Amino acid sequence: MKFATKTIHAGITPDPTTGAIMTPIYQTTTYVQQAPGEHKGYEYSRSQNPTRDALQKNLAALENGKYGLCFASGLAATDAVLKTLSPGDEVLSTNDLYGGTYRIFTKIFMQYGLKFTFITMTDAGLLEQYINENTKLIWVETPTNPMMHIIDIRAVVKLAKKRNIKVVVDNTFATPYLQRPLDLGADLAMHSVTKYLGGHSDVIMGALVLDDDNWAQELEFIQNASGAISGPQDCFLALRGIKTLHLRMQRHSENAAAVACALREHQRVDKVYWPGFEDHPNHEIAKQQMDAFGGMISFTLKGDDVEETKKLMQKFKYFQLAESLGGVESLCGHPATMTHASIPREERIKSGLLDSLIRLSVGIEDKEDLIDDLNQALRER
Ligand SMILES: *Cc1c(COP(=O)(O)O)cnc(C)c1O
Repeated sequence: MKFATKTIHAGITPDPTTGAIMTPIYQTTTYVQQAPGEHKGYEYSRSQNPTRDALQKNLAALENGKYGLCFASGLAATDAVLKTLSPGDEVLSTNDLYGGTYRIFTKIFMQYGLKFTFITMTDAGLLEQYINENTKLIWVETPTNPMMHIIDIRAVVKLAKKRNIKVVVDNTFATPYLQRPLDLGADLAMHSVTKYLGGHSDVIMGALVLDDDNWAQELEFIQNASGAISGPQDCFLALRGIKTLHLRMQRHSENAAAVACALREHQRVDKVYWPGFEDHPNHEIAKQQMDAFGGMISFTLKGDDVEETKKLMQKFKYFQLAESLGGVESLCGHPATMTHASIPREERIKSGLLDSLIRLSVGIEDKEDLIDDLNQALRER
């Protein structure tokens, strides 16, 4: 089955009772048993639910993996992965990481004896010097947020495999339509389904996809034992969103390319961060491991003035000022005052996160309208 067919058919069968073509929302906590212990594979909805099952199978198929697991949020999925580690274990991670992932690593799991080291992973060679006998996991996020660095998944996997270290890739920005980490050798693909997979800014959800039988069993145990599951209504919405994932990602990528090029031409714009540019430092790797460059762009303004940036962002009509990304509608964010406000200014500036940096989640509206919107906001008063 090819990708576009999988989005619609993988894991989904008409309802056996009625023939309903859409997976029903099995809004039930429990299932009647014929005799004590004799049931149809469903006992209690924390453990199993048919709507969630369909979504889990669908996600596994999209990532070319054996097992899919859904959670109440992206961070709940991350939480489950970390719970498979033991005190003393070390995790190597990209330094340019989703803020919530950084927070759960440092504010929650450090207390339980896990150790985290944050490094630049764009040069995989650097990674080697940080690996030691306690390193159990390498956590990769690519493209990164908001600087749009690209990490070479194959190069990281090559180093990790030699030492039996597992590699997790947060595949939220790219989605399996553009990048399939398991095919590149990674052990697990993690998702905030909240973003492109759901695609309509109406569901908070997370997912994990992997091949390893033992690790999957452990994660299934945690999914049930810790209980941060996704509800049937949310699973239905995610299934519905995924049916158009391929179409949306094509359009997101096409629109982002047009917006990136238009921004680059503008005299008030300083830098545009988009991995599709040939002079992007990681463009070659992006081309190898992604099928297109996705819908995320960041840019800075000449003069780098924070007040001017804030004023400009309030003039956008279609790029709504909001956190999150990946929905059909375009959004803009100001990392310095929003998602990355907790990082001290000096540290922030060092990693290129300037006061005027604006992050765009380019939606699937008409690209000319989007470019007009940016141009009218950028016009000097
Ligand atoms: C949003 C996001 C997360 C966290 O997901 P939630 O669904 O908000 O818990 C993790 N990684 C990336 C890259 C994200 O964008």
